[in-house]
Amino acid sequence: MNEPATHTIVVMGTIVTIQTASSDPKHSRQQDSAIERALAWFHHIEERCTRFNPQSEAMRLSNQSGVSLPVSPVLYEAVGFALEVAKASDGAFDPTLGLAMERLGFDREYSTGQTVHTDIEPTSAVSYRDVLLDPIRKTITLLRPLVLDLGAVAKGLAVDMAARELREFESFAINAGGDLYLGGCNPKGEPWTIGIRHPRHEDALIDSVVLSNRAVCTSGDYERTADDGKVHHILDPRTNAPEKSAASVTVIAQSTMLADALATAAFVLGPERGIPLLDRMGVDGLIVTPSLDRYETRGMSRDYRPGASPVL
Ligand code: ADP
Ligand code: MG
Repeated sequence: MNEPATHTIVVMGTIVTIQTASSDPKHSRQQDSAIERALAWFHHIEERCTRFNPQSEAMRLSNQSGVSLPVSPVLYEAVGFALEVAKASDGAFDPTLGLAMERLGFDREYSTGQTVHTDIEPTSAVSYRDVLLDPIRKTITLLRPLVLDLGAVAKGLAVDMAARELREFESFAINAGGDLYLGGCNPKGEPWTIGIRHPRHEDALIDSVVLSNRAVCTSGDYERTADDGKVHHILDPRTNAPEKSAASVTVIAQSTMLADALATAAFVLGPERGIPLLDRMGVDGLIVTPSLDRYETRGMSRDYRPGASPVL
């Protein structure tokens, strides 16, 4: 393999890095254009799904509750998937928390630093049950005034679309601020070893996993905060307050969107209900509590620890 090439952009409020290595230098032009297409997905999905731009498709939808609107394939996919995870987690995951997030202080667009203030007034408590999809017409209807927040699925979806562009190159790594997809092998020709950050020590790892052709996503309470660091960014939809039963959750799955969303859902559920959710959804994961107790699915040590033979 050649020296790995690394491409980095800032998008979706995070740093996205793609690392590839072509086995044949003649393919480098194809590789460059595949990487360009891969990175373009992040902008494409952000433009449609963000709640920080009143002109985004998600916000235009939020401004027209009660109307069935035809939407783009990516918005339909993101919302449809978020609703499935909401049902599977019995509402612990909920993509209608936009206003609650804004009120907690998550109201700043990362690239301009400008604050957004939505004048959508909820008539009563809202939930994922207020979002209806029509799979034939590909429309979305919001039954009440609410603001969609797709922060827990959009990055995962973008990583999956990017990975699809890079599939023809056996080996690549995509890292979107802690949401990763690892294709093939690392530059040494071995499965990828990925460190999991210690939730209380920025420069330390609490664990590591070895994997290939899998996504690994971590949601941590250290990741984004508001109100001078007093509140973090994963809410319990029952109270609209930051959830406290986990410090970080790491999920390994075949799709990044699934790993991304289930890490958030298991974070809200905490170890007692979160690990059974991961088992039911057929994925593996590790939950670290604020007192640094660790809970994990059985497959975690069997399939993904250094020394285990990775599942392909
Ligand atoms: P990160 O953005 O650090 O990868 P997550 O993937 O865990 O973190 O997503 C957290 C984001 O998901 C929040 O910033 C918010 O936009 C949204 N969110 C917060 N709480 C919930 C929840 N209970 N259900 C669904 N989405 C949530
Ligand atoms: Mg995530």
